[in-house]
Amino acid sequence: MTSREHWDLVVVGAGPAGASAALGALSEDPGLRVLLLDRSDFPRDKSCGDGIAPHVLDALRPVGAADVVDGWAPLRELELSRGDVSVSGPMRREAYVVPRRVFDARLVERAVSAGAVLRRHRATSVELDGRGPVVSGALDGDVVIGADGAHSLVRATLLGKRREPRAIAIRGYAPVVEAMRGRQVIRYGTRRQPSYAWAFDRGDGWANVGYGELLPGGRPGAGPSRRLLLEQLEALVPGAASTGTEWRGHHLPLSSWRWDQPDGPVLMAGDAAGLINPMTGEGIYYAVATGIAAGRAAARAVAAGSPADAGAQHRSAVRALLATHLRHTWLASRLAHSTRVVDAGIRAAGRDRRAFDTLVELGLGDGRIDARLAGGLLRGLLRPPRPPELRGS
Ligand SMILES: Cc1cc2nc3c(=O)[nH]c(=O)nc-3n(C[C@H](O)[C@H](O)[C@H](O)COP(=O)(O)OP(=O)(O)OC[C@H]3O[C@@H](n4cnc5c(N)ncnc54)[C@H](O)[C@@H]3O)c2cc1C
Repeated sequence: MTSREHWDLVVVGAGPAGASAALGALSEDPGLRVLLLDRSDFPRDKSCGDGIAPHVLDALRPVGAADVVDGWAPLRELELSRGDVSVSGPMRREAYVVPRRVFDARLVERAVSAGAVLRRHRATSVELDGRGPVVSGALDGDVVIGADGAHSLVRATLLGKRREPRAIAIRGYAPVVEAMRGRQVIRYGTRRQPSYAWAFDRGDGWANVGYGELLPGGRPGAGPSRRLLLEQLEALVPGAASTGTEWRGHHLPLSSWRWDQPDGPVLMAGDAAGLINPMTGEGIYYAVATGIAAGRAAARAVAAGSPADAGAQHRSAVRALLATHLRHTWLASRLAHSTRVVDAGIRAAGRDRRAFDTLVELGLGDGRIDARLAGGLLRGLLRPPRPPELRGS
């Protein structure tokens, strides 16, 4: 018989969702025995726009980790455009652009300082035997959290193969051009839909640049080639693809109308839970928020001696936090299949400061479509377009 280790909590994946899950669990019970697994050593790179919304720091503050962006320049200016329809202006709150090589390693460090044991290990299976979940046939956890990203083994084991909306995106780093200094720039596609390119100034002379689009039918194998992705990027942000380096592509499992988490002692968080904003591709806030929620639910259920209740607790915590927002972003992303709606949204944001703020909240955090934005959209759709109003600070 193989010897098995026992842990109170085993977290599979140590990205933002997994490290936050460990932090959430240990903030609930500092004595909990938490094993944090990742197939990679840290620091490691991850294909991402590196955009850290202020909501990420709101979520990390109560677990003592909001300082993970220290030393990186805060940034307020946001530009949204499609063709010659454009709006730019300051966001209400500062965002950050921190390379994931830095951000993720800092979060893991915080989790380890809080008491988690980090181990390099690729999980090969998750099974439920009579006593509870077992990872890779050797690691027993009272509770297991799947935070293993877009191609989650834990999710596949728990929910089987599901066809979900997916996007594909490629990211690189390019020298910042003057016109984009101090900004997050998002340019929606004019040829392929829905799609967008971005250039996010990191504040250190480099910008994170990239391009992503929806995969037809969500099918992983049916995507555009790397060459096509780079061509689209170059067309939307001239100079980005030709001067960029460190290209890395990745899938984005987009959130949909409804979010589910089965009962039982195996929980999911972040990309593994199919949580990426379908309007913007942002997923770090969801990863951190649902990671912390999963960790807390796990710690409470273990303390109560009923690990099997963790799933239901996690489900209700995440639904309370995100269910309405997820419905609104799903709706907005469906509407954004129409370029007329995208243009009307940008115009509404250009006319009305509050509609601009609402759009930002919807795309970066946990906002909803309010009457102001809906009215602005409707006006834009009913009236012939006027020349775009460019806003400054
Ligand atoms: C090109 C691109 C641009 C993006 N831009 C942004 C952006 O600007 N802002 C934003 O908020 N979001 C962005 N996102 C989304 C964001 O990257 C994800 O939502 C985020 O990384 C989710 O965090 P996570 O911890 O759930 O997953 P991940 O960050 O993917 O971490 C999962 C971890 O699990 C590990 N793992 C996987 N399988 C196993 C296994 N079997 N055993 C052990 N370990 C395993 C991996 O090594 C990894 O470290 C972007 C995504 C892409 C692809």
